[in-house]
Amino acid sequence: MTIRLRGHHLLCLLGYRGKGYSESFCDNMTEIYERLRLHPETEIEIVEGPDDICRAFPSDQISHCMNDSVFRKDAAIVRLAGLGFAAASNDGGSIPAGEDGSGAGLRVGDRASWAALCEAVRSQVQPEDVKTICADCRWEPFGLCKEGVAHMRAQGDLRPLPGAGNP
Ligand code: SF4
Repeated sequence: MTIRLRGHHLLCLLGYRGKGYSESFCDNMTEIYERLRLHPETEIEIVEGPDDICRAFPSDQISHCMNDSVFRKDAAIVRLAGLGFAAASNDGGSIPAGEDGSGAGLRVGDRASWAALCEAVRSQVQPEDVKTICADCRWEPFGLCKEGVAHMRAQGDLRPLPGAGNP
């Protein structure tokens, strides 16, 4: 099974603690999270725009999945992780892979294991980067994603979710 992920969800998954926009959104995200936690060899396809997490966004809430600011976050996080891809913005413009024009890493449409993507995040992303990249995200002030990056850097895996005897 291949899971389709957009750039910024690489970090959102690290910070996920079982909370989200709705019950069905969380059910879907938990299913993806647990698959990746228990089977880090799972193949990920990097996509541009809405992915397997976005598809469960509640239809009765205002979606932000196609906002330019979200596309920019996708590009910023993948670039920071050293994966390098050029993402198109919602208005048809292009977000370059890097100031130096480099982008010889993973590109939209490419596939890699979750473990390989985590290794890239682990070696390239600092917990403090979340505050800068995700300044406009409602979840950022909770600090969970920063903690998730710190855990990934220290342990190299996803944390068990709260509940069922887990902290
Ligand atoms: S702060 Fe928001 S966009 Fe950034 S990783 Fe966390 S949930 Fe995702």
